[in-house]
Amino acid sequence: MRIRQIELYRGCPVTVQSMLSRPAADIAGNVAQAKALEAAGCDIVRVAVPDKAAVALIPALRGAVAMPVVADIHFDAQLAIEAVAAGADKIRINPGNLGGQDKLGRVAAACRAAGIPIRVGVNAGSLEKELLKKYGRPSPEALCDSALQNAALLEQCDFHDICLSLKSSDVADTVAAYELAAARCDYPLHIGITEAGTLHMGLIKSAAGLGALLLRGIGDTLRVSLTADPVEEVYAALDLLRALGLRRDRPNLIACPTCGRTAIDLTRIAAEVEQRLRDVHAPLTVAVMGCAVNGPGEAHEADVGLAGGDGKALLFAKGAPLYTVDEAHCVDALMEEVRRITEEKK
Ligand code: SF4
Repeated sequence: MRIRQIELYRGCPVTVQSMLSRPAADIAGNVAQAKALEAAGCDIVRVAVPDKAAVALIPALRGAVAMPVVADIHFDAQLAIEAVAAGADKIRINPGNLGGQDKLGRVAAACRAAGIPIRVGVNAGSLEKELLKKYGRPSPEALCDSALQNAALLEQCDFHDICLSLKSSDVADTVAAYELAAARCDYPLHIGITEAGTLHMGLIKSAAGLGALLLRGIGDTLRVSLTADPVEEVYAALDLLRALGLRRDRPNLIACPTCGRTAIDLTRIAAEVEQRLRDVHAPLTVAVMGCAVNGPGEAHEADVGLAGGDGKALLFAKGAPLYTVDEAHCVDALMEEVRRITEEKK
């Protein structure tokens, strides 16, 4: 199963997950959103399955996209079994709230027969009362205990194909919880900051928390949870992986912060270059610098770049000048150089 190769074996690339946000009854809307996520570079898509009717989403999605489909189920063991029968590549449950060990055993048996894993997803907002009483709050220790206790319920069913997530909206708590889990078990970890917030703050919280974890080697799959179009989650997650050197599939854009020497509309140019580089699949470094005095030197590692002048831009490669173009045509010229270098590298 593709999902097992991606998520459950160490040494594989960290993969990007997102979640569909259309109403569960809107199958066409969810399929369209899944296609957009896949086109953006998403590796795994999760979908809420709140009722029987929503199970139809699973074959619809599997028929429309190549990425694995994870069914997110709460409280209802029968629904989980039906999601597995409908072709889910993985299910996400909280084993403690499925109605007892008998029902959990039937879910585990269905997953075992289908050869698919289960993600045990615990959340600071829904921790067991005993753990809240023991620790006084949804602390990292409480989150970790909850995840391992829920995993143990599956282990008691002789099911071990497990991935864990332990999410809190508190960045420091989330990092500490995953560190504890990584120290206390070998299960793959799906990392994320839950309810992180809107595009701006959610991205900052996710970059801080997930960046800290990934730099410690913790995290097998990740989601950047944003109150925004889920395509933004995928872009953010991929860019985070690229910023950390964990993905080298697309260009790395470096751009100077501008200063009093800048005599070109660098903010607009950098934004346009960033947008147009999204369609380039090559591990290049591309520089957009504000002046020719320092730009080529500061960005001498760049495969190609431009440095602004007064209404003009100097194109350069590995710090050496190529030619000068008008500001109005500089992005086109830069992209042509990117295309040429990409072809040469093939
Ligand atoms: Fe200023 Fe030039 Fe450095 Fe940009 S590259 S920050 S414009 S000195």
